[in-house]
Amino acid sequence: MAEYANIIIDISHEKLDRPFQYRVPEGLKNRLYPGIQVLVPFGNGNRTIRGYVIELTDEAEFDKDRLKEITAIDMEGVPVEAQLISLAAWIKENYGGTMNQALKTVLPVHQKTRQKEKKSVTLAVSRDKAQEQLAAFQKKHNTARVRLLEALLDTPKVPYEAVTGKLNVTPAVIRAMEELGLVTVEKEQFWRNPVSALNSSAAAGESPDFTLNSEQQQIVDTISADFGEEHYGTYLIHGVTGSGKTAVYIELIARAVAEGRQAIVLIPEIALTYQTVMRFYKRFGDRVSVLHSRMSQGERYDQFLRAKNGGLDVMIGPRSALFTPFSNLGYIIIDEEHESSYKSETVPRYHAREAAIERARMVGASVVLGSATPSLESYYKAKQGEYRLLNLRTRIEEKPLPTSEIIDLREELKQGNRSILSGRLQELMEDRLKKGQQMMLFLNRRGVSGFVSCRACGHVFRCPHCDVSLSQHNNGRMVCHYCGYQEPAPKICPQCGSKYVSGFKAGTQKIEQVVKERFPEARVLRMDFDTTRNKEGYEKILAAFANGEADILIGTQMIVKGHDFPNVTLVGILAADLSLHISDYRGPERTFQLLTQAAGRAGRGQERGRVVIQTYSPDHYSILLAARQDYEAFYEQEISYRRLMKYPPVWHMMVMLVASGKQELTEQCARLLWEKLQQAQEKGKIQGLSMIGPADPPIAKVNDIYRKVIYFKHENYAALARVKDVLEQFIKRHREFDGVTIQFDFNPMNGF
Ligand code: ADP
Ligand code: ZN
Ligand code: ZN
Repeated sequence: MAEYANIIIDISHEKLDRPFQYRVPEGLKNRLYPGIQVLVPFGNGNRTIRGYVIELTDEAEFDKDRLKEITAIDMEGVPVEAQLISLAAWIKENYGGTMNQALKTVLPVHQKTRQKEKKSVTLAVSRDKAQEQLAAFQKKHNTARVRLLEALLDTPKVPYEAVTGKLNVTPAVIRAMEELGLVTVEKEQFWRNPVSALNSSAAAGESPDFTLNSEQQQIVDTISADFGEEHYGTYLIHGVTGSGKTAVYIELIARAVAEGRQAIVLIPEIALTYQTVMRFYKRFGDRVSVLHSRMSQGERYDQFLRAKNGGLDVMIGPRSALFTPFSNLGYIIIDEEHESSYKSETVPRYHAREAAIERARMVGASVVLGSATPSLESYYKAKQGEYRLLNLRTRIEEKPLPTSEIIDLREELKQGNRSILSGRLQELMEDRLKKGQQMMLFLNRRGVSGFVSCRACGHVFRCPHCDVSLSQHNNGRMVCHYCGYQEPAPKICPQCGSKYVSGFKAGTQKIEQVVKERFPEARVLRMDFDTTRNKEGYEKILAAFANGEADILIGTQMIVKGHDFPNVTLVGILAADLSLHISDYRGPERTFQLLTQAAGRAGRGQERGRVVIQTYSPDHYSILLAARQDYEAFYEQEISYRRLMKYPPVWHMMVMLVASGKQELTEQCARLLWEKLQQAQEKGKIQGLSMIGPADPPIAKVNDIYRKVIYFKHENYAALARVKDVLEQFIKRHREFDGVTIQFDFNPMNGF
């Protein structure tokens, strides 16, 4: 029964910064919630204007007696903003940060962009009349007027800029001609349309040139039947790449659109290709639009406005497209739902999948998740009945999956081969070069992976408490990023006595060099962070490879997504261990996903593909099962490990970052927060919480800011959210920690 409400008055960006507080009148208590529209008195004249409740509170932030009262609930107007504000409130509650940060995430109208108007000049009189006038102007040597009339007699509609530009007719002359009734200046509002710019000649409304197969049809029928009965839910489609998921999405959306509903399709940015967009465009024409990170604020704003004004049915884009202001949303599709790019890495650190499910729940819409390697989170929920699991078991055209073989790099070392290319891989590469086929070499480096291992026996140094790999630091020690456990870096392997104990250093550049030395005749392309600084670099390299301008493409995980290269018959994974031993419990899951995706690149054409997986851990289940493409078995193994170690999705995890410009202050604050919670536990105020740390995150100091992390685990997400509230309030109340900021990340993907 909150006494006060914080209200934003206008959703144009500037005023978001400052909510205004109002008193809640008796009659409205119990009836307000974040997102609801109200009428309030505002300004000196107490004009009545519309506002949105963003927060309810019992604490007056100003002098109580001077606060004005809310006039009434406003039943009219724009409910989609209200929905999005409620969603912002949910995001703040579940991921931390301020309401303001949450609002700026869901209402991405960051600036009032001037609406672009397209103006053109047309003839307002008949051609005969115009000819007559033309003669008159020629007589009077009114050359500017002559130029304009001549142009209009030639082309009945000339763009305004062309008149003032090329024809060199001043606005004053145009105005004068307009006043004489000879010409009209037409203004048309024009929406920058990123899709039609791609290919305006494509026929819209085109049906696919195939009918869905029975598996696809069954999935469409199942989801549509629920939808028809307003039985909205979350569905997980598990189907290998090329099994026809996109075709299913398009069919579902088409049916919803026919009923006046709209759809949001989320795709990872890197998979947001021309081909994908064109498939939607062919079906939905101008009623589909895209958002991507290279668009300007103004362009994004235009697309949101088109959606809000009913000009669109489908929006495709990465994470932020989730907040498209559709007022009658039917579906949210999340393709490649396991991708870590769906998790925001800035405050609020929301997960688009969870936020999508919440948005759908609020408005009555269904969510469809799709992946060849579902996240453990989603599969777990599907198994528990929270999501409905649907399978696409066969590939379209029944192209066989590639065969994989695992190469034990320890054996290579024993036989004296210290190259990053195993004997077997070299043999296959040579064969492909001879046959004129293409191949990809893939280094699955991801984030900071400073693990230390023995190259003779494969032993990896792990934290005895957390079972994640220890990371080597410059000071020669190995550290656990979860709990802070340390030990000195060893000189010899404790398991086999070998002296080949070290971190793994090879990068793509080094590999390129090795390949060029071994196969001087081969044409090699390299794709990594350095060669793709700009987007063109990325597309150029892929296009060159697709055109057969190179035999070998070497790259990081960038090369494994979304592209079809029918002539690739060999994929080499150089060191599967790189993603396996990241200092994060998700290592095996990431490895399984990356290996499966990489394998999917081989054998897209007629010939069956072959995959070579090189590793020092050939017995690890994620590698064995990825080679066999057995997702189900992998899931069972991995979930039992998570259960044992109390990791998500079985338990929930929250990491808190404590940061400040002073090392001592940071440490002191982290310790105090830890103790505070420890006491709360002892007093029984909080139960079942497990705390780990404080420890140094992988990057303990950035730009002279010192950082510490504490990990929390609990069976219950809501309990962690409450711990977050306690910690936020504690920091607010303690003046001595003024220079300290804390941030939270729930079920982190990449962590701090
Ligand atoms: P996914 O999204 O699972 O990778 P797609 O929907 O992209 O699969 O389908 C892969 C390819 O097969 C596409 O070129 C698509 O046009 C084609 N396709 C999909 N469904 C069928 C079908 N029922 N019959 C024939 N071709 C199909
Ligand atoms: Zn060893
Ligand atoms: Zn540890």
